[in-house]
Amino acid sequence: PSPGSLPPSTETLAWPHLSTCPSPLQTRRDSEQNLTENFDEKLFELPSEILPKDGVTPPASTVPVTTDYPGEYSFQLRFQKSGTAKSVTSTYSEQLNKLYCQLAKTSPIEVLVSKEPPQGAVLRATAVYKKTEHVADVVRRCPHHQNEDPAEHRSHLIRVEGNQRAQYFEDLHTKRQSVTVPYEPPQLGSEITTILLSFMCNSSCMGGMNRRPILTILTLETPEGLVLGRRCFEVRICACPGRDRKTEEDNKQKKENNVKEVKKRKSAPPAPDTTSTKKSKGTSSAEEEEKEVFVLHVRGRERYEWLKKINDGLELLDKDSKSKPKLSVKQEVPVPSTGKRLMHRGERSDSD
Ligand SMILES: [Zn+2]
Repeated sequence: PSPGSLPPSTETLAWPHLSTCPSPLQTRRDSEQNLTENFDEKLFELPSEILPKDGVTPPASTVPVTTDYPGEYSFQLRFQKSGTAKSVTSTYSEQLNKLYCQLAKTSPIEVLVSKEPPQGAVLRATAVYKKTEHVADVVRRCPHHQNEDPAEHRSHLIRVEGNQRAQYFEDLHTKRQSVTVPYEPPQLGSEITTILLSFMCNSSCMGGMNRRPILTILTLETPEGLVLGRRCFEVRICACPGRDRKTEEDNKQKKENNVKEVKKRKSAPPAPDTTSTKKSKGTSSAEEEEKEVFVLHVRGRERYEWLKKINDGLELLDKDSKSKPKLSVKQEVPVPSTGKRLMHRGERSDSD
């Protein structure tokens, strides 16, 4: 057969797409060709000299923005009230802005806008590590869960369920993964659009999130990728979402109560004209508060040992601070009895 009759290889199909595309956004959006579905992983490892170098493809921001931005469409999210029962598979804490869900279980998320977004608008979900020290790492599934998944987008943590038009993207430059669905206006008589997300690894997955907390960024975007609105929430994927939500909410409450106590104590210093009786009354109640004993239930021995160490250290500090201040400061710093200055080694005297 003549060379002209050869069927085009996958490379010749893929190359013109990459090199003619003026922006990464358009690359990501080129849904018609459905290239992302049959994407060859090696395509991302392309030598950089083949990619346009003249700046027509501005790199996407390395660190995704995680601040809420309602924008002109007053983009908002709402979560169903699922409570903290033991059996619940997905539950959201308003107090912590945090979703707790089980691996691969569906979490319905309600999307609200104040007016109809432009034709072709999409909703995009991206995961990012919450802590600064991890934010540069791309959130992906752990090798174990990836290997047992036959899907093309097996490395993607966030999935959209029940929508044939869901599309999975990996940014050419940042390698960050995201999933989009076309924005659908609410059904007649409803004010919300619901999307179904699921998370395909546990927060504790070794070689994946590895206990590092993540945020999910949900953006409303124009077909060209312009962000119209953004909302972020933390996600924990675990075996007992109800229990963990309750524990973390209780802990936050306790912390806040403690801060309030400290503030109360700090903001109420003894006034100069306070009588001695009032003073002693104040100190005794503060002492009583300090003597109060709290019981903390800790999961896992390792964590327990850590917290115990911290507590032991604090106890030691308490003991030290109670015994030390009585010592005279004068004893520690030798003061010359005459007007002469003590000469230290290496120091020159004024008369030298
Ligand atoms: Zn995993």
